[in-house]
Amino acid sequence: MSRLAILFAASEMAPWVKTGGLGDVAAALPAALRRARHDIRVLIPAYPALHKAFPGATVLADLPALAPALPPARLLAAEADGLPLILLDCPELFARSGNPYLDALGHDWPDNAIRFGLLSRVAALLGQAGSPLGWQPDVVHVNDWQTALAPAWLHYEGGAASVVTVHNIAFQGTFAAGHLMALGLPEYAWRFDGVEYHGQLSFLKAGLQLATLISTVSPTYAGEIQHAHFGYGLAPLLRHRADALRGILNGVDTALWNPASDPTLAAPYAANRLAAKRENKRALQGEMGLEPAVDRPLFGIISRLTQQKGLDLVLTLGEGITQLPAQLAVLGSGDKAIEAGFSSLAASHPGQIAVRLGFDEALAHRIEAGADCFLMPSRFEPCGLNQMYSLRYGTPPIVRATGGLADTVVDASDATLADRTGNGFVIDEATPHALWLALERATRCWHKRKVWQRIQQNGMRRDFSWEHAAHDYVALYRDAIAAHG
Ligand code: ADP
Repeated sequence: MSRLAILFAASEMAPWVKTGGLGDVAAALPAALRRARHDIRVLIPAYPALHKAFPGATVLADLPALAPALPPARLLAAEADGLPLILLDCPELFARSGNPYLDALGHDWPDNAIRFGLLSRVAALLGQAGSPLGWQPDVVHVNDWQTALAPAWLHYEGGAASVVTVHNIAFQGTFAAGHLMALGLPEYAWRFDGVEYHGQLSFLKAGLQLATLISTVSPTYAGEIQHAHFGYGLAPLLRHRADALRGILNGVDTALWNPASDPTLAAPYAANRLAAKRENKRALQGEMGLEPAVDRPLFGIISRLTQQKGLDLVLTLGEGITQLPAQLAVLGSGDKAIEAGFSSLAASHPGQIAVRLGFDEALAHRIEAGADCFLMPSRFEPCGLNQMYSLRYGTPPIVRATGGLADTVVDASDATLADRTGNGFVIDEATPHALWLALERATRCWHKRKVWQRIQQNGMRRDFSWEHAAHDYVALYRDAIAAHG
Protein backbone atom coordinates (compact mmCIF):
# COMPACT_ATOMS: atom_id res chain seq x y z
CA MET A 1 0.00 0.00 0.00
CA SER A 2 1.25 3.44 -0.85
CA ARG A 3 2.50 5.86 1.74
CA LEU A 4 0.09 8.69 2.49
CA ALA A 5 0.98 12.33 3.13
CA ILE A 6 -1.28 13.62 5.91
CA LEU A 7 -1.62 17.01 7.56
CA PHE A 8 -3.15 16.57 11.03
CA ALA A 9 -4.39 19.89 12.46
CA ALA A 10 -5.40 20.31 16.10
CA SER A 11 -5.75 23.03 18.71
CA GLU A 12 -4.21 20.97 21.52
CA MET A 13 -1.69 18.16 21.86
CA ALA A 14 -0.55 16.22 24.93
CA PRO A 15 1.64 16.61 26.87
CA TRP A 16 2.03 20.32 26.14
CA VAL A 17 -1.54 21.62 25.92
CA LYS A 18 -4.47 19.41 26.83
CA THR A 19 -8.05 20.02 27.93
CA GLY A 20 -9.56 16.66 26.99
CA GLY A 21 -9.53 13.61 24.77
CA LEU A 22 -8.54 15.59 21.67
CA GLY A 23 -5.16 16.38 23.24
CA ASP A 24 -4.46 12.68 23.77
CA VAL A 25 -5.59 11.73 20.28
CA ALA A 26 -3.46 14.47 18.72
CA ALA A 27 -0.40 12.98 20.41
CA ALA A 28 -1.12 9.26 19.97
CA LEU A 29 -2.71 8.96 16.53
CA PRO A 30 -0.04 10.86 14.54
CA ALA A 31 2.67 8.89 16.38
CA ALA A 32 0.96 5.61 15.42
CA LEU A 33 0.56 6.76 11.81
CA ARG A 34 4.24 7.61 11.70
CA ARG A 35 5.12 4.15 13.05
CA ALA A 36 3.02 2.81 10.16
CA ARG A 37 5.46 4.78 7.91
CA HIS A 38 3.08 7.45 6.67
CA ASP A 39 4.31 10.98 6.05
CA ILE A 40 2.30 12.72 8.77
CA ARG A 41 2.88 16.28 10.02
CA VAL A 42 1.00 17.98 12.83
CA LEU A 43 -0.08 21.62 12.67
CA ILE A 44 -0.62 23.21 16.09
CA PRO A 45 -0.53 26.80 17.42
CA ALA A 46 2.80 27.85 18.93
CA TYR A 47 1.43 28.36 22.45
CA PRO A 48 4.05 29.28 25.12
CA ALA A 49 4.30 25.60 26.15
CA LEU A 50 5.35 24.69 22.60
CA HIS A 51 7.94 27.50 22.42
CA LYS A 52 9.31 26.26 25.73
CA ALA A 53 9.43 22.63 24.59
CA PHE A 54 11.06 23.46 21.25
CA PRO A 55 13.36 26.46 21.72
CA GLY A 56 15.35 25.41 18.64
CA ALA A 57 12.38 25.46 16.24
CA THR A 58 13.41 26.81 12.85
CA VAL A 59 11.45 29.12 10.55
CA LEU A 60 9.74 27.28 7.71
CA ALA A 61 7.84 30.16 6.13
CA ASP A 62 6.53 33.66 6.69
CA LEU A 63 2.83 34.02 6.00
CA PRO A 64 1.29 37.32 4.89
CA ALA A 65 -2.09 38.45 6.25
CA LEU A 66 -4.40 35.89 4.63
CA ALA A 67 -7.66 37.83 5.19
CA PRO A 68 -8.80 41.24 6.53
CA ALA A 69 -8.90 40.08 10.16
CA LEU A 70 -6.03 37.62 10.05
CA PRO A 71 -2.60 38.93 11.11
CA PRO A 72 0.65 37.83 9.46
CA ALA A 73 2.20 34.73 11.04
CA ARG A 74 5.12 32.36 10.77
CA LEU A 75 5.41 28.60 10.47
CA LEU A 76 8.10 26.97 12.58
CA ALA A 77 9.45 23.43 12.25
CA ALA A 78 10.04 21.17 15.25
CA GLU A 79 10.25 17.44 15.86
CA ALA A 80 8.79 15.41 18.72
CA ASP A 81 10.38 11.95 18.89
CA GLY A 82 10.75 12.04 15.13
CA LEU A 83 7.21 13.33 14.50
CA PRO A 84 7.34 16.56 12.45
CA LEU A 85 5.43 19.45 14.01
CA ILE A 86 4.46 22.65 12.21
CA LEU A 87 4.02 25.38 14.81
CA LEU A 88 1.76 28.27 13.84
CA ASP A 89 3.52 31.23 15.41
CA CYS A 90 1.43 34.36 15.89
CA PRO A 91 2.16 35.87 19.32
CA GLU A 92 -0.76 38.30 19.32
CA LEU A 93 -3.16 35.32 19.06
CA PHE A 94 -1.38 32.41 20.72
CA ALA A 95 1.10 33.77 23.29
CA ARG A 96 -1.33 32.95 26.13
CA SER A 97 -0.64 30.31 28.76
CA GLY A 98 -3.13 28.01 30.46
CA ASN A 99 -6.35 26.80 28.90
CA PRO A 100 -6.08 27.42 25.14
CA TYR A 101 -9.70 28.53 24.77
CA LEU A 102 -10.50 30.38 28.00
CA ASP A 103 -9.14 33.38 29.86
CA ALA A 104 -8.24 33.31 33.56
CA LEU A 105 -11.87 33.87 34.53
CA GLY A 106 -13.02 30.91 32.48
CA HIS A 107 -14.58 32.95 29.67
CA ASP A 108 -13.98 32.25 25.99
CA TRP A 109 -11.25 34.51 24.61
CA PRO A 110 -13.16 37.23 22.70
CA ASP A 111 -10.99 36.73 19.61
CA ASN A 112 -11.39 32.93 19.38
CA ALA A 113 -12.99 33.27 15.92
CA ILE A 114 -9.83 34.99 14.70
CA ARG A 115 -7.43 32.69 16.56
CA PHE A 116 -8.94 29.46 15.28
CA GLY A 117 -10.00 31.08 12.02
CA LEU A 118 -6.28 31.58 11.37
CA LEU A 119 -5.46 28.01 12.43
CA SER A 120 -8.17 26.67 10.08
CA ARG A 121 -7.10 28.97 7.23
CA VAL A 122 -3.49 27.84 7.51
CA ALA A 123 -4.51 24.15 7.68
CA ALA A 124 -6.38 24.67 4.41
CA LEU A 125 -3.52 26.62 2.83
CA LEU A 126 -1.07 23.79 3.55
CA GLY A 127 -3.42 21.48 1.62
CA GLN A 128 -3.56 23.79 -1.39
CA ALA A 129 -1.33 24.47 -4.40
CA GLY A 130 -0.37 27.84 -2.87
CA SER A 131 1.23 26.21 0.19
CA PRO A 132 4.59 27.77 1.08
CA LEU A 133 5.97 24.40 2.22
CA GLY A 134 6.74 22.59 -1.02
CA TRP A 135 4.93 19.60 0.50
CA GLN A 136 1.43 18.56 -0.52
CA PRO A 137 -0.65 16.38 1.78
CA ASP A 138 -3.09 13.89 0.22
CA VAL A 139 -5.50 14.59 3.03
CA VAL A 140 -6.04 17.32 5.62
CA HIS A 141 -7.40 15.86 8.88
CA VAL A 142 -9.01 18.46 11.16
CA ASN A 143 -10.39 17.97 14.66
CA ASP A 144 -13.30 19.59 16.50
CA TRP A 145 -14.53 23.11 15.80
CA GLN A 146 -11.18 24.84 16.19
CA THR A 147 -9.89 23.49 12.88
CA ALA A 148 -13.22 22.51 11.29
CA LEU A 149 -13.42 25.61 9.08
CA ALA A 150 -10.46 24.39 6.96
CA PRO A 151 -12.61 22.12 4.76
CA ALA A 152 -14.61 25.20 3.71
CA TRP A 153 -11.61 26.75 1.91
CA LEU A 154 -10.57 23.38 0.51
CA HIS A 155 -14.11 22.97 -0.81
CA TYR A 156 -14.54 26.45 -2.30
CA GLU A 157 -10.99 27.02 -3.57
CA GLY A 158 -9.79 23.47 -4.21
CA GLY A 159 -7.07 21.44 -2.50
CA ALA A 160 -6.58 18.13 -0.75
CA ALA A 161 -9.31 15.79 0.45
CA SER A 162 -10.43 16.55 4.00
CA VAL A 163 -11.59 14.61 7.05
CA VAL A 164 -13.15 16.18 10.14
CA THR A 165 -13.28 14.27 13.44
CA VAL A 166 -15.80 15.11 16.15
CA HIS A 167 -14.41 14.56 19.65
CA ASN A 168 -17.14 16.53 21.37
CA ILE A 169 -20.16 17.75 19.47
CA ALA A 170 -21.29 20.03 22.30
CA PHE A 171 -18.68 22.65 21.31
CA GLN A 172 -19.33 24.09 17.85
CA GLY A 173 -17.50 27.41 17.45
CA THR A 174 -20.39 29.64 16.44
CA PHE A 175 -19.71 33.32 15.80
CA ALA A 176 -21.31 36.51 14.42
CA ALA A 177 -21.99 36.64 10.67
CA GLY A 178 -19.45 39.42 10.09
CA HIS A 179 -16.64 36.89 10.48
CA LEU A 180 -17.43 35.48 7.04
CA MET A 181 -15.72 38.37 5.25
CA ALA A 182 -13.23 39.04 8.06
CA LEU A 183 -11.86 35.52 7.69
CA GLY A 184 -11.81 35.77 3.91
CA LEU A 185 -14.53 33.26 3.08
CA PRO A 186 -16.41 33.84 -0.17
CA GLU A 187 -19.80 35.52 0.06
CA TYR A 188 -21.48 32.55 -1.62
CA ALA A 189 -20.44 30.31 1.29
CA TRP A 190 -23.25 31.98 3.26
CA ARG A 191 -25.84 29.28 2.58
CA PHE A 192 -27.70 26.65 4.56
CA ASP A 193 -25.52 24.08 2.80
CA GLY A 194 -22.38 26.18 3.36
CA VAL A 195 -20.98 27.71 6.53
CA GLU A 196 -24.12 29.52 7.76
CA TYR A 197 -25.96 28.11 10.78
CA HIS A 198 -29.06 29.87 12.12
CA GLY A 199 -27.76 33.27 11.02
CA GLN A 200 -24.26 32.72 12.39
CA LEU A 201 -20.94 31.34 11.19
CA SER A 202 -20.44 27.86 12.66
CA PHE A 203 -17.00 26.31 12.32
CA LEU A 204 -18.13 22.78 13.17
CA LYS A 205 -21.19 22.92 10.99
CA ALA A 206 -18.99 24.09 8.10
CA GLY A 207 -16.67 21.13 8.57
CA LEU A 208 -19.50 18.61 8.88
CA GLN A 209 -21.13 20.07 5.77
CA LEU A 210 -18.08 20.47 3.55
CA ALA A 211 -15.39 17.94 4.58
CA THR A 212 -14.97 15.00 2.24
CA LEU A 213 -15.57 12.54 5.11
CA ILE A 214 -16.50 12.77 8.79
CA SER A 215 -15.56 10.62 11.75
CA THR A 216 -16.23 10.48 15.44
CA VAL A 217 -14.62 8.56 18.29
CA SER A 218 -16.79 5.44 18.47
CA PRO A 219 -19.16 3.61 16.12
CA THR A 220 -22.12 3.82 18.52
CA TYR A 221 -21.62 7.58 19.08
CA ALA A 222 -21.58 7.99 15.27
CA GLY A 223 -25.13 6.64 15.28
CA GLU A 224 -26.23 8.51 18.40
CA ILE A 225 -25.27 11.99 17.18
CA GLN A 226 -27.70 11.57 14.30
CA HIS A 227 -30.49 11.78 16.88
CA ALA A 228 -31.75 15.00 18.41
CA HIS A 229 -30.99 13.91 21.97
CA PHE A 230 -27.23 13.64 21.31
CA GLY A 231 -26.68 15.86 18.27
CA TYR A 232 -26.79 19.33 19.86
CA GLY A 233 -28.70 20.70 16.87
CA LEU A 234 -26.51 19.05 14.23
CA ALA A 235 -28.40 15.73 14.02
CA PRO A 236 -30.31 16.59 10.81
CA LEU A 237 -27.06 17.52 9.01
CA LEU A 238 -25.37 14.34 10.24
CA ARG A 239 -28.33 12.27 9.05
CA HIS A 240 -28.03 13.98 5.69
CA ARG A 241 -24.34 13.03 5.58
CA ALA A 242 -24.76 9.60 7.17
CA ASP A 243 -22.96 7.91 4.26
CA ALA A 244 -19.89 10.06 4.90
CA LEU A 245 -19.81 9.45 8.67
CA ARG A 246 -17.70 6.76 10.43
CA GLY A 247 -17.00 5.88 14.03
CA ILE A 248 -13.45 4.89 14.96
CA LEU A 249 -12.77 3.96 18.54
CA ASN A 250 -9.83 5.75 20.19
CA GLY A 251 -6.93 3.63 21.36
CA VAL A 252 -5.27 3.86 24.77
CA ASP A 253 -1.63 4.24 25.75
CA THR A 254 -0.90 0.55 26.27
CA ALA A 255 2.57 1.22 27.68
CA LEU A 256 1.31 3.64 30.36
CA TRP A 257 -1.71 1.49 31.21
CA ASN A 258 -0.23 -1.99 31.56
CA PRO A 259 -0.74 -3.89 34.85
CA ALA A 260 2.33 -6.02 34.16
CA SER A 261 4.71 -3.05 34.20
CA ASP A 262 2.83 -0.23 35.96
CA PRO A 263 5.31 1.29 38.46
CA THR A 264 2.55 2.81 40.61
CA LEU A 265 1.11 -0.60 41.61
CA ALA A 266 1.79 -2.59 44.78
CA ALA A 267 2.23 -5.75 42.68
CA PRO A 268 2.35 -6.25 38.91
CA TYR A 269 0.03 -8.85 37.37
CA ALA A 270 -1.25 -10.13 34.05
CA ALA A 271 -4.09 -12.22 32.60
CA ASN A 272 -2.24 -15.43 33.44
CA ARG A 273 -1.03 -14.11 36.82
CA LEU A 274 -4.21 -12.74 38.34
CA ALA A 275 -3.55 -13.81 41.93
CA ALA A 276 -1.24 -10.81 42.43
CA LYS A 277 -4.15 -8.47 41.74
CA ARG A 278 -5.33 -9.24 45.29
CA GLU A 279 -2.28 -7.52 46.75
CA ASN A 280 -3.31 -4.37 44.93
CA LYS A 281 -6.77 -4.58 46.49
CA ARG A 282 -5.25 -4.91 49.95
CA ALA A 283 -2.95 -1.96 49.32
CA LEU A 284 -5.80 0.19 48.00
CA GLN A 285 -8.00 -0.65 50.99
CA GLY A 286 -5.13 0.45 53.24
CA GLU A 287 -4.42 3.63 51.27
CA MET A 288 -8.06 4.71 51.26
CA GLY A 289 -8.90 3.71 54.81
CA LEU A 290 -11.19 0.82 53.89
CA GLU A 291 -11.44 -2.33 56.02
CA PRO A 292 -9.23 -5.11 54.61
CA ALA A 293 -12.28 -7.26 53.77
CA VAL A 294 -11.74 -10.19 51.41
CA ASP A 295 -15.32 -11.47 51.46
CA ARG A 296 -16.89 -8.73 49.33
CA PRO A 297 -16.14 -6.97 46.05
CA LEU A 298 -14.63 -3.50 45.95
CA PHE A 299 -16.22 -1.20 43.35
CA GLY A 300 -14.12 1.64 41.94
CA ILE A 301 -14.98 5.00 40.34
CA ILE A 302 -12.57 7.48 38.69
CA SER A 303 -14.38 10.33 37.04
CA ARG A 304 -15.17 13.91 36.44
CA LEU A 305 -18.14 14.31 38.75
CA THR A 306 -20.77 15.59 36.34
CA GLN A 307 -24.31 14.79 35.34
CA GLN A 308 -22.94 13.19 32.14
CA LYS A 309 -21.26 10.40 34.09
CA GLY A 310 -24.46 9.15 35.79
CA LEU A 311 -22.90 9.16 39.26
CA ASP A 312 -26.06 10.59 40.80
CA LEU A 313 -27.42 7.06 40.27
CA VAL A 314 -24.66 5.69 42.47
CA LEU A 315 -25.49 8.31 45.10
CA THR A 316 -29.15 7.31 45.01
CA LEU A 317 -28.18 3.71 45.78
CA GLY A 318 -25.97 5.07 48.55
CA GLU A 319 -25.69 2.76 51.51
CA GLY A 320 -27.43 -0.05 49.61
CA ILE A 321 -23.99 -0.73 48.14
CA THR A 322 -22.59 -1.57 51.57
CA GLN A 323 -25.48 -3.99 52.13
CA LEU A 324 -24.72 -6.08 49.02
CA PRO A 325 -22.28 -6.35 50.79
CA ALA A 326 -19.58 -4.45 48.87
CA GLN A 327 -17.11 -1.62 49.28
CA LEU A 328 -16.72 1.52 47.18
CA ALA A 329 -13.63 3.66 46.38
CA VAL A 330 -14.21 6.94 44.54
CA LEU A 331 -11.70 9.37 42.99
CA GLY A 332 -13.09 12.43 41.26
CA SER A 333 -13.78 16.12 41.18
CA GLY A 334 -16.27 18.44 39.58
CA ASP A 335 -19.86 19.28 40.42
CA LYS A 336 -19.96 20.52 44.02
CA ALA A 337 -23.29 18.82 44.83
CA ILE A 338 -22.00 15.43 43.63
CA GLU A 339 -18.73 15.97 45.52
CA ALA A 340 -20.70 16.74 48.70
CA GLY A 341 -22.94 13.70 48.12
CA PHE A 342 -19.98 11.32 47.97
CA SER A 343 -18.25 12.98 50.92
CA SER A 344 -21.28 12.55 53.14
CA LEU A 345 -21.81 8.96 51.96
CA ALA A 346 -18.21 8.15 52.89
CA ALA A 347 -18.58 9.91 56.26
CA SER A 348 -21.59 7.76 57.17
CA HIS A 349 -19.94 4.50 56.09
CA PRO A 350 -16.32 4.64 57.24
CA GLY A 351 -14.33 1.55 56.31
CA GLN A 352 -16.79 0.61 53.55
CA ILE A 353 -16.99 3.70 51.34
CA ALA A 354 -14.00 6.00 50.72
CA VAL A 355 -13.77 9.14 48.62
CA ARG A 356 -10.84 11.26 47.41
CA LEU A 357 -11.79 14.57 45.85
CA GLY A 358 -9.22 15.92 43.38
CA PHE A 359 -7.15 14.77 40.42
CA ASP A 360 -4.54 12.10 41.16
CA GLU A 361 -3.06 10.20 38.23
CA ALA A 362 -1.17 7.63 40.35
CA LEU A 363 -4.18 6.86 42.55
CA ALA A 364 -6.24 6.42 39.36
CA HIS A 365 -3.84 3.61 38.35
CA ARG A 366 -4.07 2.02 41.80
CA ILE A 367 -7.87 2.09 41.78
CA GLU A 368 -7.95 0.46 38.34
CA ALA A 369 -5.68 -2.27 39.73
CA GLY A 370 -7.07 -2.60 43.26
CA ALA A 371 -10.81 -2.48 42.61
CA ASP A 372 -12.65 -5.66 41.64
CA CYS A 373 -15.17 -3.94 39.42
CA PHE A 374 -15.39 -0.46 37.84
CA LEU A 375 -18.52 1.75 37.72
CA MET A 376 -19.20 4.00 34.71
CA PRO A 377 -22.97 4.41 34.18
CA SER A 378 -22.60 7.44 31.83
CA ARG A 379 -25.62 9.07 30.22
CA PHE A 380 -23.49 9.70 27.13
CA GLU A 381 -19.86 8.89 26.40
CA PRO A 382 -18.36 9.66 22.96
CA CYS A 383 -15.55 7.15 23.54
CA GLY A 384 -14.49 6.91 27.18
CA LEU A 385 -11.07 5.82 28.41
CA ASN A 386 -11.62 4.52 31.91
CA GLN A 387 -13.65 1.51 30.83
CA MET A 388 -10.80 0.52 28.51
CA TYR A 389 -8.24 0.95 31.30
CA SER A 390 -10.38 -1.17 33.62
CA LEU A 391 -10.74 -3.91 30.99
CA ARG A 392 -6.95 -3.97 30.63
CA TYR A 393 -6.56 -4.12 34.41
CA GLY A 394 -8.88 -7.11 34.88
CA THR A 395 -11.44 -4.91 36.64
CA PRO A 396 -14.68 -5.64 34.74
CA PRO A 397 -16.72 -2.47 34.21
CA ILE A 398 -20.41 -1.87 34.79
CA VAL A 399 -21.47 0.61 32.09
CA ARG A 400 -24.50 2.02 30.38
CA ALA A 401 -24.98 1.08 26.72
CA THR A 402 -23.97 4.37 25.13
CA GLY A 403 -21.20 5.59 22.80
CA GLY A 404 -17.80 4.00 23.27
CA LEU A 405 -19.01 2.12 26.33
CA ALA A 406 -21.40 0.11 24.14
CA ASP A 407 -18.55 -0.58 21.71
CA THR A 408 -16.06 -1.90 24.27
CA VAL A 409 -18.04 -3.64 27.01
CA VAL A 410 -19.89 -6.88 26.28
CA ASP A 411 -22.42 -7.99 28.88
CA ALA A 412 -21.41 -11.24 30.56
CA SER A 413 -24.03 -13.90 29.85
CA ASP A 414 -23.88 -17.65 29.33
CA ALA A 415 -23.54 -17.05 25.59
CA THR A 416 -20.84 -14.36 25.80
CA LEU A 417 -18.88 -16.32 28.37
CA ALA A 418 -19.00 -19.34 26.08
CA ASP A 419 -17.70 -17.37 23.10
CA ARG A 420 -15.15 -15.53 25.27
CA THR A 421 -16.41 -12.01 24.58
CA GLY A 422 -18.30 -11.21 27.82
CA ASN A 423 -16.10 -8.75 29.71
CA GLY A 424 -18.38 -6.69 31.97
CA PHE A 425 -21.94 -5.67 32.78
CA VAL A 426 -24.12 -3.46 30.61
CA ILE A 427 -27.31 -1.63 31.57
CA ASP A 428 -29.69 -0.02 29.09
CA GLU A 429 -31.49 2.51 31.27
CA ALA A 430 -29.86 5.27 33.32
CA THR A 431 -31.97 4.44 36.38
CA PRO A 432 -31.01 3.53 39.95
CA HIS A 433 -33.02 0.31 39.60
CA ALA A 434 -31.09 -0.84 36.50
CA LEU A 435 -27.79 0.00 38.17
CA TRP A 436 -28.82 -1.85 41.33
CA LEU A 437 -29.63 -5.02 39.39
CA ALA A 438 -26.22 -4.82 37.69
CA LEU A 439 -24.42 -4.36 41.03
CA GLU A 440 -26.23 -7.40 42.43
CA ARG A 441 -25.40 -9.44 39.35
CA ALA A 442 -21.74 -8.41 39.39
CA THR A 443 -21.51 -9.24 43.10
CA ARG A 444 -22.97 -12.71 42.52
CA CYS A 445 -20.53 -13.32 39.65
CA TRP A 446 -17.59 -12.10 41.72
CA HIS A 447 -18.31 -14.84 44.26
CA LYS A 448 -18.03 -17.46 41.50
CA ARG A 449 -14.28 -17.40 41.11
CA LYS A 450 -14.02 -19.24 37.78
CA VAL A 451 -16.73 -17.15 36.11
CA TRP A 452 -15.17 -13.92 37.34
CA GLN A 453 -11.75 -14.94 36.10
CA ARG A 454 -13.17 -15.67 32.68
CA ILE A 455 -14.77 -12.21 32.55
CA GLN A 456 -11.50 -10.59 33.62
CA GLN A 457 -9.45 -12.48 31.05
CA ASN A 458 -11.87 -11.71 28.23
CA GLY A 459 -11.38 -7.99 28.92
CA MET A 460 -7.60 -8.21 29.36
CA ARG A 461 -7.15 -9.97 26.03
CA ARG A 462 -8.82 -7.30 23.92
CA ASP A 463 -6.59 -5.09 21.74
CA PHE A 464 -7.03 -1.37 22.53
CA SER A 465 -3.77 -0.24 20.94
CA TRP A 466 -3.54 2.84 18.74
CA GLU A 467 -2.16 0.66 15.93
CA HIS A 468 -5.66 -0.73 15.53
CA ALA A 469 -7.27 2.74 15.36
CA ALA A 470 -4.51 4.07 13.06
CA HIS A 471 -5.28 1.27 10.61
CA ASP A 472 -8.94 2.38 10.50
CA TYR A 473 -7.94 6.04 10.01
CA VAL A 474 -5.73 5.08 7.07
CA ALA A 475 -8.72 3.31 5.47
CA LEU A 476 -10.79 6.46 6.11
CA TYR A 477 -8.11 8.66 4.50
CA ARG A 478 -7.94 6.39 1.44
CA ASP A 479 -11.73 6.53 1.09
CA ALA A 480 -11.65 10.33 1.39
CA ILE A 481 -8.95 10.58 -1.29
CA ALA A 482 -10.96 8.29 -3.58
CA ALA A 483 -14.21 10.22 -3.00
CA HIS A 484 -12.41 13.52 -3.58
CA GLY A 485 -11.24 12.30 -7.00
P1 ADP B 1 -13.78 12.30 30.05
O1 ADP B 1 -12.79 12.65 28.95
O2 ADP B 1 -15.22 12.53 29.66
O3 ADP B 1 -13.46 12.95 31.36
P2 ADP B 1 -12.68 9.62 29.81
O4 ADP B 1 -12.99 8.33 30.47
O5 ADP B 1 -12.65 9.62 28.31
O6 ADP B 1 -13.69 10.72 30.34
O7 ADP B 1 -11.26 10.12 30.27
C1 ADP B 1 -11.04 10.53 31.57
C2 ADP B 1 -9.54 10.54 31.84
O8 ADP B 1 -9.28 11.38 32.95
C3 ADP B 1 -9.01 9.21 32.20
O9 ADP B 1 -7.67 9.11 31.81
C4 ADP B 1 -9.15 9.20 33.73
O10 ADP B 1 -8.30 8.27 34.35
C5 ADP B 1 -8.81 10.60 34.05
N1 ADP B 1 -9.42 11.13 35.26
C6 ADP B 1 -10.66 11.64 35.42
N2 ADP B 1 -10.83 12.11 36.68
C7 ADP B 1 -9.68 11.87 37.32
C8 ADP B 1 -9.22 12.14 38.65
N3 ADP B 1 -9.99 12.74 39.56
N4 ADP B 1 -7.96 11.78 38.97
C9 ADP B 1 -7.16 11.17 38.05
N5 ADP B 1 -7.53 10.90 36.79
C10 ADP B 1 -8.79 11.25 36.43
